[in-house]
Amino acid sequence: MKKIVTFLFLLPLALCASISLFDGKETVPVVVPSVQTPAQKTATAELTEYLAKITGKQFQVVQEGCSSPTSAIYLGNTNFALRQGLDLGKFGDEEWIIKSYGSHLVIAGGEPRGTLYGVYHFLEDVLGVHWLTPSVEYVPEKTKIELEELNLSGRPPMLYRDVYLVPGISGRIFLARNRMNISDSNYGGRMLFSRFSGREAQGSAHTMYTVLGDADCLRKLFREHPEYFPLIDGVRTFDSVRANGAAQSQFCLTSLGLRKLWVEALRGHIRHDREFAGKRGIQPPMFYAIDQNDCYDGFCTCPSCDAVVTREGSKSGVMLDFVNHVADQLKEEAPDAVFLMMAIHSTEPPPKFMKALPNVGIRLCDTTSNILRPWSDPANAGHRKNLEGWAKICNNIVMWDYSITYGSPVCINYPTPTLRTFAPDLRMLAANHGGGVFFEHEQVIGADMRDLKVWIEIKLAENPGLDYDTLLKTFTDLYYGQAGGKIREYLDLLERASEKGGGNISWFPALSAYNFIDAETMSRASRILDEAERMVAKEPELVRRVEHARLSLDRLYLIRSGAYRKSLDMAGRKDVVLPDYAKTAERYQRVWNHEMDAREVDRNNKFYISEYENNVTKFLDMAAKRKELPVPEQFKRVEPDALYLFGTGLAQIYIDYLKLVKDPESPAGEALCAKMSDIVKTPHKDFREDKYQYPFSWTVWPSMAGTIRGKIQNFPEAMPKGYHWYKLGEGIKLTQTSVVSMFAGFLIALDGVVSDNSELGQKYEIWVSIKVLGPDFYRMGKPGLENVFYIDQFAVVRQTRNMQGTSE
Ligand SMILES: [Zn+2]
Repeated sequence: MKKIVTFLFLLPLALCASISLFDGKETVPVVVPSVQTPAQKTATAELTEYLAKITGKQFQVVQEGCSSPTSAIYLGNTNFALRQGLDLGKFGDEEWIIKSYGSHLVIAGGEPRGTLYGVYHFLEDVLGVHWLTPSVEYVPEKTKIELEELNLSGRPPMLYRDVYLVPGISGRIFLARNRMNISDSNYGGRMLFSRFSGREAQGSAHTMYTVLGDADCLRKLFREHPEYFPLIDGVRTFDSVRANGAAQSQFCLTSLGLRKLWVEALRGHIRHDREFAGKRGIQPPMFYAIDQNDCYDGFCTCPSCDAVVTREGSKSGVMLDFVNHVADQLKEEAPDAVFLMMAIHSTEPPPKFMKALPNVGIRLCDTTSNILRPWSDPANAGHRKNLEGWAKICNNIVMWDYSITYGSPVCINYPTPTLRTFAPDLRMLAANHGGGVFFEHEQVIGADMRDLKVWIEIKLAENPGLDYDTLLKTFTDLYYGQAGGKIREYLDLLERASEKGGGNISWFPALSAYNFIDAETMSRASRILDEAERMVAKEPELVRRVEHARLSLDRLYLIRSGAYRKSLDMAGRKDVVLPDYAKTAERYQRVWNHEMDAREVDRNNKFYISEYENNVTKFLDMAAKRKELPVPEQFKRVEPDALYLFGTGLAQIYIDYLKLVKDPESPAGEALCAKMSDIVKTPHKDFREDKYQYPFSWTVWPSMAGTIRGKIQNFPEAMPKGYHWYKLGEGIKLTQTSVVSMFAGFLIALDGVVSDNSELGQKYEIWVSIKVLGPDFYRMGKPGLENVFYIDQFAVVRQTRNMQGTSE
């Protein structure tokens, strides 16, 4: 669609400088046209501010025509530039040029952002200024600015470049200086998505319901027109609880009535947006998102919808048919906008026969890849096939990149060496009608190597042709100073470990996915970062940055210290030194607190309060519990290195009626509990009352023999008092990613039990500790008691190292 940015260096090094902007005494003037747009004014202010920072001298700004300097910087659409034959009217929105003409320099570009981008490229590429984070910039000091002949130009191949989330005013300026899209007229900005007429819900994603109105409006619509809603299992279905972008239902997308309603609602928003943009002096929205609600499926199966899905071989068929219709109806209302369909989950595979209209784009998510490998890797053939398939039928593909991992607090923000995949993936995107990239990179503090990754993302988003190793060296040397080399050594160690250990991390990874960082790698990585800290020990600010770079490694160590210790004991390795637990926990908490203050995050914002609770308070509590569960009487005879205990505080819970509660009767101090009165009140598609009848059902997957299901084996005749250990099964051959689940209601990842391939094939028993009250959950229960059960721990026992088994 658009060519990759090219930098043309026309001249080999000349012997003498052709342009002198500052000879050590005098500075040249910055010549601007008599009329400037807000973005051009910003360009002027930014250029003179940074020239002053670099040289310590003021550069005069003069209007063109006031004088005839012998040497000058001509900024923007000056007559001088025109006389040199530069027709800026033909430049694209973001196309820029930096070119010398004799002793003069021209920095200019297209409207609205070209000149501003030219200034930023001049400062960055020519003078060596770098905006590394919202609060850290690198500005070289120069006693002279004397340049060779210059002829640089470029434009970003992808018009849409966005990273979520860089908070605060400083964050917006940081993004603008690094040429990411922001919607501010002072930066020549553009609205990215609809404001939905200024309502609370805005049109950036999952707009299926929110385009029409709020939850009450949707509920009313369902009462009046159930036929607009999806037919699922023979019933018109509506998730009335969520009734917004998070709903677990969509619409009947072939319904003509629904289509009309949807188009008219969006038409209203488009009018509102154009008015708003006009008042603000910015370009109207680049995109209108026409997205399914945020769930795996929820699509309609009526004969009419089903026919499209069957013909096209994917749910994306019925979705694209709808988007094409909307885009066609509204093409005159928003001639410069792209109607953007999100392809996620069941709509990631493209349709077989349909094509997208010219004003339709596809925002393709990737929920299937191993993010440690580029899309070109055979492991990610599925996603690559989706991308190439969409590129054949659509000329504008936007990548939705999950730059972090998701899951419970236990399963996120560990060292995830993905950096080397960014450049090849973005190049593949650009070669496949790439029109933009959105990095979903929240977790402002906790995300792995946050500052480095965000900077590399934004550099490559603008120009996927840049060399990763050069970018890496630039950032790490400038940001970590003397410790830069050690940070690169640390990243290199993780990359090699991931290749050697077959690291496989999805967007929702289990903790066991990090098994490629084994005890020895953890030990080495910690030593490298210890050295990094020592190298910058005299500069507290650099120590802080190194400590923050270490946060994800510290996190992994804290949650897995017991497993690391155990694997070293089993291998008889006394030579490998693991970090100090208490010191690591102290540093982890201190770094979080420091970063909360150092970044523009609002400590009173409930989002950050909950982020802190999950990632610090609860996380440290979980890590400590995982480390310190006392050995139950039941397993006193088991060799210590053959016993693994998992408190249910570590569980990922999937149904509302399961609660984690404090329970002093439990040695773990807390337990998952469910009351029958809550269970029967909560409709659940998998609900069957017999599931909750003793003996409870369980599932372990994946084992080496696939998924194993069973019921608890050794239940006694009379209901025991308090907690009692029950055996789920034995002879189970676990894998590195095995989880145990009960009632399809929660799961616990059995992380660290099988820590490397040599342990595959060992047999394990799995036990659970349960307390039951009331007759509903137990055939011998005493009537009159409240019906409730508690599950507080699982135990995994390695049988092949401990042939005597366990006693009852
Ligand atoms: Zn339908």
